[in-house]
Amino acid sequence: MSDKVQCQTHGEQEATYVCRHIMDSIDTGKAVGFHWPRDSDMSRPDAWCTECEQVRQSEGGDWTDTAMKFVDVSVLCGGCYDRAKAIWLRARAS
Ligand SMILES: [Zn+2]
Ligand SMILES: [Zn+2]
Repeated sequence: MSDKVQCQTHGEQEATYVCRHIMDSIDTGKAVGFHWPRDSDMSRPDAWCTECEQVRQSEGGDWTDTAMKFVDVSVLCGGCYDRAKAIWLRARAS
């Protein structure tokens, strides 16, 4: 069972977890990259942006306290997650 979240736009949805930059990209409409664990079989795995990925790499590829502080995980509803991912997909296709 995954957690539920109440979204003003989408109603009750599956809770997803993303970095604050991906969260912001929904407002700005600007793609910031989209990374997730390759071995995840979740339909909406935890996701983070390119900037966060660079911080993680500089931390040796681990989610250290420094990396986690930069990510600043936000809860996003499933519908908003799909929107954020669509922004990234559109930017990648162009
Ligand atoms: Zn980020
Ligand atoms: Zn939503």
